Amino acid sequence: DANAVPQAPEDPLFGLMAAFRRDPDPKKVDLGIGAYRDDNAKPWILPVVKLAEDRLRNDPDLNHEYLPIAGLPEFTAASQKLVLGGDSPAIKEKRVTSLQTISGTGAVHLGALFLAKFYKTKTERLAYFSAPTWANHFQIFANVGLAYKTYPYFDKQTKGLDFDGTFAAIRDAPEGSIIVLHACAHNPTGVDPTQEQWKKIAALIREKKHFPFFDTAYQGFASGDLATDGWAIRYFIEQGFELCIAQSYAKNFGLYGERAGCFHFVTSPASDAEVTIKRVASQLAILQRSEISNPPAYGARIASTVLNDPELFKEWEANLKTMSGRIKEMRTELRKKLEDMGTPGTWNHITEQIGMFSFTGLSEKQVLKIREDSHVYMTNNGRISMAGLNTHNVDYFAKAVDKVIRE
Ligand code: PMP
Repeated sequence: DANAVPQAPEDPLFGLMAAFRRDPDPKKVDLGIGAYRDDNAKPWILPVVKLAEDRLRNDPDLNHEYLPIAGLPEFTAASQKLVLGGDSPAIKEKRVTSLQTISGTGAVHLGALFLAKFYKTKTERLAYFSAPTWANHFQIFANVGLAYKTYPYFDKQTKGLDFDGTFAAIRDAPEGSIIVLHACAHNPTGVDPTQEQWKKIAALIREKKHFPFFDTAYQGFASGDLATDGWAIRYFIEQGFELCIAQSYAKNFGLYGERAGCFHFVTSPASDAEVTIKRVASQLAILQRSEISNPPAYGARIASTVLNDPELFKEWEANLKTMSGRIKEMRTELRKKLEDMGTPGTWNHITEQIGMFSFTGLSEKQVLKIREDSHVYMTNNGRISMAGLNTHNVDYFAKAVDKVIRE
């Protein structure tokens, strides 16, 4: 009976958001959740999303019928092109199958579920996550019964990539492990491999017959350029890997609550690839049907309207530059302020890390102190969402960091 159900801990990130809302101090700063904010700390509806919504509102053919099980076909087709590139050999050779999902989370879940069901090996198949990673990876994989380990990723000394640690762990993982990789703008560290490092990782994954699982939640947010941010995935595809991709439109379209995302499964080039992918698609459809029946329409319609219209697409690219550009400015400002104050430590990592987050290097003790004394909310691991900084609070934040470090 329900009496036997133990209390579960509160989700740390959503708990942090609630604590921020309760805090009455007018100076409070929210650097917790990974959602874009404008220079006035307000959520930003992308102008291109407003344009798409206007079009949808005036479309007499739209209704509230169910979408197909795999989602809106023009949305999944455009999503393939976005992530793999318009002239991808995998698309031409019909080696990709894609399903619209409940944002990136749903895509990670569908992929993990599929692998748990169909990628059985004699020994238990392990998934490997970077340490640290997006915390939800652990519970999503655990929920479908996949065991996991981590590979070292963040080097506390350099506040950059621990490439040797990553390499050694992937090398020593049992053959055929699932290697979960952040395609760009790694969450929570903001640290990505260079293209040379990606090539070495790819060669090793091939040698060890591992299965790459890409999570792409920030395409366009890292460099501001969609192709650059898609480089790692496209390189793996060029190398002929069988792999899967979980794609989120939460951040790059600002469609957080609309839950627009896509799951892609790509098979290796082979004469029977088209037949294989059809079988994979048929199984994914059954999993999808049993879990959500069919995905929600509104967010996918917005993204699809933009992705399939060259004019709107250009406007979207400009909107992405607005977001990534403001974040970059805040990185420069924050680093400069800390260096000008002579805050103990080095601060080059603030501008070297990319994407929405920065791993400041503050200890948990300092994070809790800064929350108590200065009403600045960041996750306990010292991650800050750069989008929470703006021209009105960056100085206040820099001084708060300076103070807590000197204490
Ligand atoms: N993967 C990573 C690495 C993320 O950072 C996020 C967003 N926090 C997601 C997946 C998925 O988020 P959503 O379900 O909101 O698309």
